[in-house]
Amino acid sequence: MSLSLEGKTALVTGGSRGIGRSIALMLAEYGADVALTYHSSTDAANEVKEEIEDLGRNAKAIQADAVDLDRADEVVSAITDDWEKLDILVNNAGITKDNLILRMNEEQWDQVIETNLKSIFNYSKAVAKPMMRNRGGSIVNISSVVGISGNAGQSNYAASKAGIIGFTKSYAKELASRNIRANVVAPGYIVTEMTDELDEDLLDAIKEDTPLDRAGEAEEVAATVLFLSSDLSSYITGEVLRVDGGMAM
Ligand code: NDP
Repeated sequence: MSLSLEGKTALVTGGSRGIGRSIALMLAEYGADVALTYHSSTDAANEVKEEIEDLGRNAKAIQADAVDLDRADEVVSAITDDWEKLDILVNNAGITKDNLILRMNEEQWDQVIETNLKSIFNYSKAVAKPMMRNRGGSIVNISSVVGISGNAGQSNYAASKAGIIGFTKSYAKELASRNIRANVVAPGYIVTEMTDELDEDLLDAIKEDTPLDRAGEAEEVAATVLFLSSDLSSYITGEVLRVDGGMAM
């Protein structure tokens, strides 16, 4: 058993920036060929693709709105047509549209639920048949500690991230007999462009609630995803691993 992903292929949604970028690079560093999707950051996505190729791996950067079910099928087919199989899926794409319930509008609710939760259904469904044909696979879905504990001002985000946990456990039970594992990583406060947008008071409160007393780095989330993608976690499915400095303990 090893952490090596040599000979494996991976798909990371939202791999152009932040946590997704770190995940894509770390999976490549440990041997996988990596395809990443993005929404609008074409230049950033192509830079990640080049960095993966510099590591001596095959790479693809594919524009695909994660909300689009048909596009998810096309993305997965593009990978399996070229690389024959798909071993690892990391559902990472996500957004925030924060507001207090009384001020939250329908669009803020729908956009967050669709981008963060429907996307997980889209890609998990699209990879099921190829992974069954391949006699196995590993799916890692990026939730959040907010999906475990809730957070004032983030009811849409918390609902989407809690939904990911229920979805993943159901999926893990349905596909375990096909040797397909599905797990959740729930990050706490990680420094990325997404958290740059958060309100200062909210960020201070988050840091105060973190026993390790610091923000996390995207690489620390990526390392956990690497473990759950690799054979080292071969007997783990339906699990939720917090990467949060102890925040939600
Ligand atoms: P960023 O905002 O830095 O990056 C988001 C990524 O998702 C980008 O690659 C973006 O693509 C992509 N994306 C957004 N919407 C879509 C869409 N509709 N279709 C396809 N791709 C899309 O976020 P983070 O790196 O901070 O977050 C990554 C994940 O981690 C998210 O699911 C987030 O909820 C979760 N998380 C983050 C935490 C944090 O503290 N940062 C804490 C807990 C969880 P593009 O560049 O093209 O816009």
